[in-house]
Amino acid sequence: MTEFFDLRANSGSEKDKDFDNSLRPLSFGEFSGQNQTVENLRIFVKAARLRGEALDHVLLHGPPGLGKTTLSNIIANEMGVNIKITSGPVLDKPGDLAGLLTNLEPRDVLFIDEIHRLSPVVEEYLYSAMEDFRIDILIDKGPSARSIQLELNPFTLVGATTRSGLLTSPLRARFGIKFHLEYYDVEVLTNIVKRSANILQVEIEERAAVEIASRSRGTPRIVNSLLRRVRDFAQVKSNGKIDMEITRHALEALQIDKHGLDEMDNRILSTIIDKFKGGPVGISTIATAVGEDPGTIEEVYEPFLIKEGFMKRTPRGREVTELAYRHLGRIFYGGSATLF
Ligand code: ADP
Repeated sequence: MTEFFDLRANSGSEKDKDFDNSLRPLSFGEFSGQNQTVENLRIFVKAARLRGEALDHVLLHGPPGLGKTTLSNIIANEMGVNIKITSGPVLDKPGDLAGLLTNLEPRDVLFIDEIHRLSPVVEEYLYSAMEDFRIDILIDKGPSARSIQLELNPFTLVGATTRSGLLTSPLRARFGIKFHLEYYDVEVLTNIVKRSANILQVEIEERAAVEIASRSRGTPRIVNSLLRRVRDFAQVKSNGKIDMEITRHALEALQIDKHGLDEMDNRILSTIIDKFKGGPVGISTIATAVGEDPGTIEEVYEPFLIKEGFMKRTPRGREVTELAYRHLGRIFYGGSATLF
């Protein structure tokens, strides 16, 4: 039986989370890639500091594991303020949000992960907090119920979402700064592997670092979790050093795809080939066929498949490329597929 190695795993065990935290860059200087975003953020943070003001509210959107939480922590560090971390599904009552907001010190950062999953009442509550740094609290019940207005310290809301398409427009409009995080290229990921290996005090060959980077689906979180697994193999099956041989062996044992694609990526590609003759086919048809939400395919899976050249967008729908046929071991006849 083969163990399913979930590359995308975010939640994971406490140990995984500690591991994530230990490798998390703490300053803009340590954060690799996303150059334009980081450069702009540096300017906005510097300007806010010079004026002694809270940074404008920031929305970070992009697929999981690309550094949204990391960047929020960095923003707080670079602003020299505290950060409070929560997430959309956790805040189910306005009271939960009020508790957090009233405890913020001037210019603090409030990070709300998965902000697209806020309940509508909490979201509405957030509007006046974001705009006027003020909230209305309802006290007492029944005939004596009344609302009082509370002034908040100016703060920065950093919202993160993998599904910006699900954000309501009033919420989106309240963010002065918005950035989309992109998948990383192999060169940047290789540097992240080397940096993480250095923190973990494990020796790694350049070629092995490149190999891990190129199988990590453009995602730093996957890079770090693969590195951790390869390190286990190196320690148990070899002398602890991560070289090319042990890396290949480990990646094979873990059944990591050659291009770092995950199960859903491969399912999308093979569905388009097998059921729709390689396309063109519409996104909602693909979504129904693979049993995934169309928005998730569009915002999480498709950007990577397009970036790596497995799929393209045409005016008539999505089409897979010859590379996808080759990757799945099919023969490409300019549009129709045949199994070897
Ligand atoms: P997200 O919030 O987008 O899901 P995270 O910020 O939690 O992603 O990042 C996942 C892990 O990847 C972090 O623990 C961090 O160590 C690493 N990471 C993310 N972006 C970078 C980066 N640009 N450079 C180095 N490590 C990174």
